Amino acid sequence: MALAASVAVDVGHYLKEPGAISARGVTEFEYNRELALEAAQTLQRAGHRTLLIGEDGMVEDLGGRAPRARGMDLFISIHHDSVQPRFLSTWEHEGQPRQYSDLFSGFSLFVSRANPHLEASLKCASAIGEALRQAGFKPSRYHADPILGENRPFADEANGVHYFDNLAVLKTAAIPALLFEAGVIVNRDEELRMRDPAVRRRIADSIAGAVGRCLR
Ligand SMILES: [Zn+2]
Repeated sequence: MALAASVAVDVGHYLKEPGAISARGVTEFEYNRELALEAAQTLQRAGHRTLLIGEDGMVEDLGGRAPRARGMDLFISIHHDSVQPRFLSTWEHEGQPRQYSDLFSGFSLFVSRANPHLEASLKCASAIGEALRQAGFKPSRYHADPILGENRPFADEANGVHYFDNLAVLKTAAIPALLFEAGVIVNRDEELRMRDPAVRRRIADSIAGAVGRCLR
């Protein structure tokens, strides 16, 4: 039995600036909230204490989010991914023109070297990436690609973890912290997977299992 931990689950973005827009016109914030709620419930069922941050969509101060989790064991910011605008094409969905790109897919994890607990942050990010891979998910690679203009160096290549030092939500954390991009919602197939409750459950199970191990 893994040790009980306390985990802050942050819902990426907020209503006024809801992040990416999916291939079918749904905001990233909505996807983030659904997955964050599922992850928090799964963590609780596994015996962990959780704190949800930003689920009402009103938390506009990104740098103020992680400090709310002071004293907890881990801060996880939940996101869904897009691609750079030059890779987007237009299609029509339910009578509306929408932007999409089917070129990229997969999950990504980020840690900041500005976080005072880099080692613990990386350990948990790697554990989550490993659990996701075992559950059949694939890490995206394009964030590390200099030609694609991303060039975020890998911290753990096999498990899809990158360094992203200046992320506001991570660098203000005084506790171990990571940012999780669950999947690419401008990819038309991946968006369908991301809205599947069974897929969401598998992601939440992967997070909860990994957290139980990495914070032991
Ligand atoms: Zn985001």
